[in-house]
Amino acid sequence: MAKSRYMWNKLRKWHEQNYRNYPWRSQDITAWGILLAEMLLRRTDGPTVAKIFPEIYKRYPTPQDMAEAGESEIIEYVRPLGLWGQRSKALAQLSQALIKRHSGTVPKKLDKLLDLPHVGPYVGGAVMVFAYGKPAPMPDVNIIRIMSRFFCLPDATPGDIRKLAAAALEQCPRGRSRQFFYALLDLGSAHCRARPRCPGCPLERKCQSRIGIHIYTMELNIAEETTSYEQKG
Ligand code: SF4
Repeated sequence: MAKSRYMWNKLRKWHEQNYRNYPWRSQDITAWGILLAEMLLRRTDGPTVAKIFPEIYKRYPTPQDMAEAGESEIIEYVRPLGLWGQRSKALAQLSQALIKRHSGTVPKKLDKLLDLPHVGPYVGGAVMVFAYGKPAPMPDVNIIRIMSRFFCLPDATPGDIRKLAAAALEQCPRGRSRQFFYALLDLGSAHCRARPRCPGCPLERKCQSRIGIHIYTMELNIAEETTSYEQKG
């Protein structure tokens, strides 16, 4: 999977018109705000989290505020998202670990982030990219799906997921990791969904999966035409 300018050139133009303006994407968001949003976005879509994010971020603008509040209070804020018990526990433990281990700051190194409770490879990568603008692998389901289709690897194994996250990183232009990964996430929501909406996708021309679909459809049409011709004969 060689680096190419194609993906970024297409994504950049498409994203000028299709950027999703979520509250955690604002210019003045802190690293804690991004970490909080990514924790809430687990198993929940952006529009749902966007409804409660401003209120929860206002109430807990720092890890200190959340650590002092404790689970029983946090639970009321996360209740509309479902899984409130797990979420409030995870947020309480995470904010307390940030206070104890990092004096209430969000680490700027991936290994330190991954060492925190409830922070996995995607959340860690997202904080590196979106909070600090540093390139990092992002094994997000949408990104993996786009990569597996674009490079035509439909049956990605766990090992491939690491490879596909690395492939996405390889396509990421220097100094543009934030914009590049936001564009991929937005593309995964608008076009490259579980059932892909390929017409109008900016990557359509070079997407191996899409090209494969064209070839497959052409072959089907030829086969159908041949069959009908033979039947007529
Ligand atoms: S062309 Fe279709 S399969 Fe390929 S990236 Fe776009 S939406 Fe996904």
